[in-house]
Amino acid sequence: MPKRVIVIGGGITGLSAAHRLAELNRDRDLDLEILLLERSDRVGGVISTVERDGFIIEEGPDSFITSKPWGLNLASRLGLQCELIETSRDKRRTYVLLHGKLVPLPEGFIMLAPARIMPFLRTPLFSWRGKMRMLMDLVIPKNPRIDESLASFVRRRLGREALERAAQPMISGVYTADPEKLSLRATMPQFIEMEERYGSVIKGMYQGYRKRKKGDMSDTGARYSLFLSFNKGMKTLVEALVKAIPEGSIKTDVAVEGIQEAYDGWEVATGGGILSAAGVIVTTPAHVAAGLLESAAGGCAALLRKIEYASSAVLISAYRSEDIETGLDGFGFVVPATEKSSIIACSFSSEKFTGRAPRDCTVLRAFVGGALNPDICRMEDSRIIETVRKELGRILGIGSSPVFTIIKRYPGAMPQYHVGHGELVDGIQREIRKLKGVEIAGNAYGGVGIPDCINSGERAAERLLQSLYAAQF
Ligand SMILES: Cc1cc2nc3c(=O)[nH]c(=O)nc-3n(C[C@H](O)[C@H](O)[C@H](O)COP(=O)(O)OP(=O)(O)OC[C@H]3O[C@@H](n4cnc5c(N)ncnc54)[C@H](O)[C@@H]3O)c2cc1C
Repeated sequence: MPKRVIVIGGGITGLSAAHRLAELNRDRDLDLEILLLERSDRVGGVISTVERDGFIIEEGPDSFITSKPWGLNLASRLGLQCELIETSRDKRRTYVLLHGKLVPLPEGFIMLAPARIMPFLRTPLFSWRGKMRMLMDLVIPKNPRIDESLASFVRRRLGREALERAAQPMISGVYTADPEKLSLRATMPQFIEMEERYGSVIKGMYQGYRKRKKGDMSDTGARYSLFLSFNKGMKTLVEALVKAIPEGSIKTDVAVEGIQEAYDGWEVATGGGILSAAGVIVTTPAHVAAGLLESAAGGCAALLRKIEYASSAVLISAYRSEDIETGLDGFGFVVPATEKSSIIACSFSSEKFTGRAPRDCTVLRAFVGGALNPDICRMEDSRIIETVRKELGRILGIGSSPVFTIIKRYPGAMPQYHVGHGELVDGIQREIRKLKGVEIAGNAYGGVGIPDCINSGERAAERLLQSLYAAQF
């Protein structure tokens, strides 16, 4: 009799978990029945690529980082190497909006600090006072803390201007987070290591720069040379996973309502009835997981509810390239909170990857909302569209209307890794370990990026099978 394992949630975490179960089932001859239950009418979660009139439009994530190996590794196992594409090499730069104008982030400036001194000294992004304060990082004694907010760390080592004009907007663009609350250890521990090891973030960045090939360091901001996507967009990964998971294993339009321990495993309650399973992997957002686990593990549910989420929306606009006065010599811009804009970041999608728009058109993706600007997500679509359009028009010199606009909302989709997140996740994992046959995975625990989610799903699948088939592992 096959053992049934149910994966709850069909985002990249759930799909990766189900795929890993399928791989191990095949490799170790386990006689497993895999069932993935997804509430909506499609899998992929926040990953969504739309093809329209010659455009390839990413409504959610547009790429994944390769410095964490799990995304690339999965793409290789799925045979997708030929589909992978790099970011365009000649435009790997980011701008920062400063007093209403776009200023390039200096070459070699990564997230918080410069790795190269000359471009940093020449940039108009920081005042001389601000630059001098940042350079004091070279002499300020190290004082590492167990956990600290990003804002506290950057103010302490590099000063207020580095926080306001670089760290805060860069981090908002990635984590949609409040830097006063964001845990540095849970998101960018490499900067803590730099302080511990070199006594200075700038010295640590410089050492990293020397170790890497020089060509890799011409890009700025998020280090675009490390990011990949697929020819036909991120949906390629989702479609390949669906193909690789045994037919009939994925059920959409099935919302799970709760899980309950049974005498020989678990009972999973859905609108259509109760399904029994030997094991369950919960990959929904943490606040949903809390509801599902409430009666089986109230303590765990209480911890899961402590993870806060932020909402955001993406406004995707296609313009005729000739209508954009400034030209777009880069991948996008980020907006410091001090600019009081409704946009937190804007990606020039058709510049970042080739083949995203017909030759004479440009696609912009403007992000709004996040922890620092939640009110905009409560507005109606038409008001968001009008507000963002006006601001893009002012910043980029666009006088005409777009060819089309798409608005995509992400309510409560981005987990906030607040100070103490590491201990909170340890507590959740301790509680989960008390439930034999249940695992939890997703973007709320060990990283929000796609490779982190893949790793989280795959490791959860392995742990579950180790507990169910101890003899074969
Ligand atoms: C706008 C945006 C842009 C991003 N850009 C990038 C990027 O460029 N690169 C990158 O690496 N990362 C990016 N991220 C982050 C990354 O995409 C996400 O963290 C990741 O895709 C989350 O995957 P997940 O499977 O954990 O969660 P989700 O994608 O949220 O999937 C969870 C799934 O669970 C389902 N579900 C919920 N409740 C139930 C229930 N009761 N029963 C059954 N199913 C349920 C949901 O419908 C959903 O499909 C971005 C995120 C957003 C929102």
